Amino acid sequence: MAEGEPLIVLDRVNKHFGPLHVLQDVSLSIDRGEVVVVIGPSGSGKSTLCRTINRLEPINSGTITFDGQELPAEGRALARLRSDVGMVFQSFNLFAHKTILENVTLGPIKVRKEKPAEARERAMALLDRVGIANQADKYPAMLSGGQQQRAAIARALAMRPKAMLFDEPTSALDPEMVGEVLDVMTSLAAEGMTMVVVTHEMGFARHAANRVVFMADGQLVEQAAPAEFFANPTSDRAKDFLSKIL
Ligand code: ADP
Ligand code: MG
Repeated sequence: MAEGEPLIVLDRVNKHFGPLHVLQDVSLSIDRGEVVVVIGPSGSGKSTLCRTINRLEPINSGTITFDGQELPAEGRALARLRSDVGMVFQSFNLFAHKTILENVTLGPIKVRKEKPAEARERAMALLDRVGIANQADKYPAMLSGGQQQRAAIARALAMRPKAMLFDEPTSALDPEMVGEVLDVMTSLAAEGMTMVVVTHEMGFARHAANRVVFMADGQLVEQAAPAEFFANPTSDRAKDFLSKIL
């Protein structure tokens, strides 16, 4: 794929849940290494947008292209493309009955067919990178929320994703643990990872994002560089939203 081509392109994507038109002609192009923060009121379609990017949700019309290939609706090709996109959820979603190390090695061994010894070595390096190598042999319930979320990030990175999606990764955390997770995300961004981040952490948006996308009622209402967006939101809905959260 040409280096200059965007990594992710959504072109007039529509998604309905029954009568609800959750994504309305959403077009969005994300460059390699770009960090896009998605903000907007609850129910505006942010999670659905993330889930459609790696086709956890089927779409009704439009196209999604990832790394130059249009995403198929299903099948093996989809599974392969999906594993190129790491996803981190609000609720950690670690396997409760597996150790932290096993959580991180499972995908590489089962899906990527890596040798167990190599997978373990890489997993330990990733756990070290997110600051929890000393928790490797514990079970998720023994860790704090911040540690569990960092484990979830390490698990996603173990699949060598080309992009990472974060859906409100710090919303379920106690306030004192938000920073440690955002720090890991900030360093990932600095290393050039392509990231789509749904968050209410406006500090992260200001400092780590290349672009802020504001969603409301299933539409991308407005997008701009963070400094410009926060200083001069143009739509009434973005102004209203910012006045409530800042
Ligand atoms: P956000 O993440 O911005 O809060 P969501 O993408 O979760 O918004 O939801 C957008 C809209 O779609 C909401 O009205 C929500 O209730 C609805 N919705 C989300 N998932 C489903 C589903 N699986 N079935 C029916 N409606 C859904
Ligand atoms: Mg959501």
